[in-house]
Amino acid sequence: MSGREEAGFNTCPRSSTDRTFPCGGKGYRFESCRGRMALTLETPLSQLPRIGKKYYKQFHKLGLNIVRDLLYYFPHRYDDFSNIVPIAKLELHKTATIQGKILDIKSTQTFQRRITLVEAIVQDKTSIIKAIWFNQYFIAQILKKGQQVSLSGKLKLGSKGYYLSNPSYEIMRFTPHQKFGGGLTHTAGLIPVYPETAGITSRVIRFALKMSLPIINQIKEFLPSEIIKNQNLPPLKTALKEIHFPKTKISAEKARNRLAFDELFLIQLSVIQQKQVLQKQIAKAIPFNKELVQSFVKSLPFQLTNSQKIAAWDILQDIAKPMPMNRLLNGDVGSGKTVVAAIAALEVAKTGSQVAFMAPTEILAQQHFKEISKLLKRFKLKIGLLTSSTGKIFYKGKTDPEKKSKISNGASIVIGTHALIQKGVVFRDLALIIIDEQHRFGVEQRATLQKAATIPHFLTLTATPIPRTLALTIYGDLDISLLKEMPKGRQKIITKIVAPANRQQAYEFIRQQIKQGQQAFVICPLIEESEKLAAKGEPRHRREVKSVTQEYEKLTKEIFPDLKIAMLHGKMRPKEKEEIMTQFKDKKTNVLVSTSVIEVGIDIPNATVIMIEGSERFGLAQLHQFRGRVGRGKHQSYCFLFTDSPAKTTQARLKALLKCENGFELAEKDLKIRGPGELYGVRQSGLPDLAMANLGNLPLVEQTRKEANNLLDKDSELKNYPLLQEKLKEFHRTVHFE
Ligand code: ADP
Ligand code: MG
Repeated sequence: MSGREEAGFNTCPRSSTDRTFPCGGKGYRFESCRGRMALTLETPLSQLPRIGKKYYKQFHKLGLNIVRDLLYYFPHRYDDFSNIVPIAKLELHKTATIQGKILDIKSTQTFQRRITLVEAIVQDKTSIIKAIWFNQYFIAQILKKGQQVSLSGKLKLGSKGYYLSNPSYEIMRFTPHQKFGGGLTHTAGLIPVYPETAGITSRVIRFALKMSLPIINQIKEFLPSEIIKNQNLPPLKTALKEIHFPKTKISAEKARNRLAFDELFLIQLSVIQQKQVLQKQIAKAIPFNKELVQSFVKSLPFQLTNSQKIAAWDILQDIAKPMPMNRLLNGDVGSGKTVVAAIAALEVAKTGSQVAFMAPTEILAQQHFKEISKLLKRFKLKIGLLTSSTGKIFYKGKTDPEKKSKISNGASIVIGTHALIQKGVVFRDLALIIIDEQHRFGVEQRATLQKAATIPHFLTLTATPIPRTLALTIYGDLDISLLKEMPKGRQKIITKIVAPANRQQAYEFIRQQIKQGQQAFVICPLIEESEKLAAKGEPRHRREVKSVTQEYEKLTKEIFPDLKIAMLHGKMRPKEKEEIMTQFKDKKTNVLVSTSVIEVGIDIPNATVIMIEGSERFGLAQLHQFRGRVGRGKHQSYCFLFTDSPAKTTQARLKALLKCENGFELAEKDLKIRGPGELYGVRQSGLPDLAMANLGNLPLVEQTRKEANNLLDKDSELKNYPLLQEKLKEFHRTVHFE
């Protein structure tokens, strides 16, 4: 926003002499404006007196449309202007607030640099100081000689002496019910600072909020009073006032805590209720078949780990019940989730019901198809593969593809991509859905399957470690089985951060490995150059393609002209991707350059080196997943992290990978450093900011969980809490955890 615009609402339209914000002071004040306006919580922000018309578009961009939205738009920090200092005591480079009288004010132009300067001389009882504003000429129209003002800013030393640089300013007046200066909005006490985007400044937001503040009294308390008491929370009205204009840092903290409690509490109610709803549905009970399971376990070329046994047992017990299982099998890369899922699939298939096994990509679907077919070979089941590229179902050993609809009388286990649950695919008797490497099965997807009288059991497999706080919040509707240990005999992957100067050495090392018959991955993130294209609106996948193409060319032309290099990215046709993966698996190529599509589940035991470019751009847990692409065979494996970022924080973050091989610890660290946004797809969930910021706050998460459980135990439909019900409905309209 330009200064000129800001000046626009500095003048109350109903008083040509009044040139201050209409909050506090004599003459036409906010109270009189409000009397005319009768704002409510539902009033569109476009109708806010004087600023609505000018800023409603910007408000809209911030997702703020009505007054209620504004009240729930929280500051991300406060400037502490509680420190009012006599001018004589100002300290160089320190921010402080002074209050005094304007002795003189003028604006000048520096001709060379075309900068407008407004200079004011301000005096208090102790001394005189100059204030300078750069390129804000309108200030000379707002502030006048003789006025008493409050200025907050940093003391600097220029060639002509000390001055306050670009201070926040406010004209001070007496108000009938406030002591002198009591109504200051921008320069006294703790001043809220809002994330400033979309061309709207904190000053405008503060102004709009001050105007809307009395409406907080219309907001109704929705939390049950016993919870407020138990948790020692401030009332909602107080919290909303204090989060914007706190009296003290402590009251601001209490307010924020109360509002974060609200958001997490609503998440808890949602997920617990969601779980209850699912538990009321009917699923096919699959009786535990001891002989079958034993004979399968015996047929394996290895011993199951203890964790695998426990997880399998959890699952088999779940599906033996006539209500749908909703379980997440969480285990680090290579911990052996597939075989656990296969046990469940086998049991279900042997009863004559069907199993759908969904993978996120075509490549993985292919891989699972081969793996599951191999694992279950001796059980004589019909296992099919369905992907969108084939559009048809294939069975092993058959050349002629069957039509999709044949699933209804065909395979007992069908492996595929999302194509599996599309329209036109009709299962005869689907009793179990296994979803690999996805966080959860969406409510909507579930709904598409819910048409039958019974609904399938759900088993989700993921290597993305779910920290405890997330298991208790956004994953709170799922039961979780954890594979804590790795199969025996897995070797440690040697991880190194490679300084830019040692790049050649790393290439040399890769060459050595390849000479010995091994293979290597090179992972590319978006690169700088393509980020410039992002600014021009080039879509992400195109930039990824560009980044990987450049790397591919560099490697083929300059670094390894003698080796066979292949490239893989998400925009290739499925058939192409599959060919490239097959060639790599068959050792026909030496190096595979790829985007992050390689991340999930790909199994190439002969690959021993993974080199990750721009590693600072990935989360720790994600890097750990990449690292899991190697070390899957007999040979010692290596992970090289490249980064051009010399930032200490980057180095420290990457070093965590060198020390730590535990995906869960890394995920906890990620959660602390980067928040849950990208990693868990929370960013797209529409979760409110405070909840987002507190997803890692275990004590608060546990308290909200406890209170939600208590409440729903007493009153599962919240019949006695209509306001809470209403609030929860509103919450559901904006939030979805998929
Ligand atoms: P992920 O959990 O990453 O999906 P996979 O299921 O692909 O892991 O298993 C990785 C490899 O480990 C596979 O080759 C699988 O056959 C093997 N495996 C699984 N369980 C065991 C075990 N208990 N002992 C030895 N190897 C195992
Ligand atoms: Mg897997």
